[in-house]
Amino acid sequence: MDGAHQNLIGLSRGELGSLVQSMGEKPFRVRQLWHWIYDRGAADFQAMTPLGKPLRARLAADFGLVRPRVAREDASADGTIKWLFRFADGNEAETVFIPEVDRGTLCVSSQVGCTLSCTFCHTGTQRLVRNLAAAEIVGQFMAARDALADWPSTRPDRRITNVVMMGMGEPLFNFDNVAMALAIFMDPDGIALSKRRITLSTAGVVPMIRRCGDEIGVKLAVSLHAPDDALRDRLVPINRKYPLAELMAACRAYPGAHNARRITFEYVMLDGVNDSPAHARALARLVAGIPAKFNLIPFNPWPGAPYRCSPAPVIERFSAILNDAGYTAPARAPRGDDIMAACGQLRTESLHARASLRAPATGDR
Ligand code: SAH
Repeated sequence: MDGAHQNLIGLSRGELGSLVQSMGEKPFRVRQLWHWIYDRGAADFQAMTPLGKPLRARLAADFGLVRPRVAREDASADGTIKWLFRFADGNEAETVFIPEVDRGTLCVSSQVGCTLSCTFCHTGTQRLVRNLAAAEIVGQFMAARDALADWPSTRPDRRITNVVMMGMGEPLFNFDNVAMALAIFMDPDGIALSKRRITLSTAGVVPMIRRCGDEIGVKLAVSLHAPDDALRDRLVPINRKYPLAELMAACRAYPGAHNARRITFEYVMLDGVNDSPAHARALARLVAGIPAKFNLIPFNPWPGAPYRCSPAPVIERFSAILNDAGYTAPARAPRGDDIMAACGQLRTESLHARASLRAPATGDR
């Protein structure tokens, strides 16, 4: 975005209200603008005919409705679409659309890069560059809806029906911006996604889990991947800071978790590492008492990855043990793995500032 135009996308209702007031406009304009931005998906003010010509001209002079640019779009044979989005400062993040029979899920990134360094995750090999702003998190959704011609939000056959904060980055390390963005997704006058259609996934930032339930109120997914601290310390290094006992206590106390709204435990199936029957039984004991379900994720390979995916019969046995203990534990077929869009395959070339100074980028950035 050029500095002269302030972006209206990503502002809270309150911030938009102050802005409308400072322009000397009546409060009803806030709802009207909100409707045109988030229900109609207007990308410029000229489309907003009910606002009248003079107001449209004033808005266009000072403000923008800026989305990230599509730097690249890949379509998988299975219908999954991955976008590489470029933000105003040249940094990039990926967003994935996963169509299913009964829904369409948009997987949204919260950071450029990641600090977690989970050993099986491709994003984990990219250093954290920076947090995404609320405007950039919401912008991914806006740009995806643009690309899918999926406006207005009230379309009965809309393609994006669900959002998962499961793209690049750790959403609970960018809490304020993620909370702001999710409030915009849920606002009933705009995109109007219900909180049951939004899932936030965390590797286990324990101190923020309660706030996620209290202040955001969406469904929680936890990237578990190991039933004991020794193994989880290796796979998900944040476990050294927030070990399993603390993580499980936070899950037990998650506001709004009950049987109709269970916590999803994600578990990547790594051949010979975390996939034995003993691991499955330990897992069932670990989550006892938590309204829980499992999502067994076949390991998705990436260049240089030090793991292989567990064989199908091993995954089936693992799933059956969890079922016998009373937990659903489907192993979903990977989506978009032919375009490196599946879980854990996202990565961009964006570099941390210091690194890019050492090796100046050539060409268009
Ligand atoms: N940082 C958050 C959000 C990322 S969600 C979190 O960790 O939950 C992405 C999910 O994909 C996580 O469950 C992650 O552990 C999983 N994942 C990462 N690499 C993977 C891979 N190579 N194969 C399958 N799943 C992977």
